[in-house]
Amino acid sequence: MKITDHIIQAEGKTLFSFEIVPPRKGSGIADLYNNIDPLIEFKPPFIDVTTSREEYVFIEKGDGLLERKITRMRPGTLGICAAIQHKYNVDTVPHVLCGGFSKEETEYLLVDCMYLGIQNVMALRGDARKGEKYFEPASGGHQYASDLVAQIQDLGSGKYLHEAIISEELNSFCIGVAGYPEKHIEAPSMEYDLQMLKKKVEAGADYIVTQMFFDNQRYFDFVERARAIGIEVPIIPGIKPIATLNHLQILPQIFKIDLPQSLVKEVLKCKTNAAVRELGIEWTVHQCKELLEYNVPVLHFYSMGQSDNIRRIAGHIF
Ligand code: FAD
Repeated sequence: MKITDHIIQAEGKTLFSFEIVPPRKGSGIADLYNNIDPLIEFKPPFIDVTTSREEYVFIEKGDGLLERKITRMRPGTLGICAAIQHKYNVDTVPHVLCGGFSKEETEYLLVDCMYLGIQNVMALRGDARKGEKYFEPASGGHQYASDLVAQIQDLGSGKYLHEAIISEELNSFCIGVAGYPEKHIEAPSMEYDLQMLKKKVEAGADYIVTQMFFDNQRYFDFVERARAIGIEVPIIPGIKPIATLNHLQILPQIFKIDLPQSLVKEVLKCKTNAAVRELGIEWTVHQCKELLEYNVPVLHFYSMGQSDNIRRIAGHIF
């Protein structure tokens, strides 16, 4: 079922969902299931599965030399989606990237999604490759998520890349895109970034999931500004409970977000990571209760491989 239909069917009740990251190549899927199992009691209508870009690895050649190779360390997004659908009977949302994929490869992936009964995809540009300054599309790939959205939309209406194929078998996707309550790092201004977000919606995006934020006011302002320029699709807040002391540095560095000073002060009082984890649960429960009052359609959690804290938060909320 499409995410937008899940939201309509909920008739104003806030839904619970979460995102998982595929394991590193060489690990099994058991740990992933161990993290999903405790969250299933909260009846997520959908689970997102991220996709990672390819990266450089260095392989010892035995003669003191290193060979640089390019590889994907966390493959398997679509396989995991299929496995989760099969095991838990919930919808899954594979993340589809511009970075590292040609349009043809994207088309093949979408065809696989159709065969697997996957009706939702999250369309993202992806970041620059590790160690590179700027995002470069793959040869024959898309530059912006809005271009990817347009391709997904076309394919859903039977228009494949090669015009010789015009399919009668229509299979439209429900398309999610990313939104940034604190602005995307590369955007010159918030206004510009919102206009680019509108472009994604005009290209066919059906809903938006936000980058994590720790101050709800950022989300409220973002929604208000998006609505003011005519973005009408659901805007789903992305939630991440702070869980370790080094999150104070890592989260702003990786996700280009601010942490409110009141939260920073409380984290700094914690002596152990266990104490930070408790604080993160408390902070997020408060955050979620306020978002519920605002009638958000879904509370979407970034699990990042450890779900015990999300389970406890969901236990307070749902
Ligand atoms: P875009 O929407 O293409 O925007 C990128 C930048 O270009 C922005 O600054 C925007 O203002 C500008 N821009 C957009 N369109 C245009 C245009 N037409 N002309 C000029 N400028 C334009 N990354 C992963 O690698 N894997 C994942 O699974 C993943 N999941 C994510 C899930 C969520 C909910 C979020 C919020 C992010 C996720 N990311 C993921 C990170 C994401 O790939 C990066 O933030 C990336 O830098 C931007 O992706 P985007 O889709 O927002 O890009």
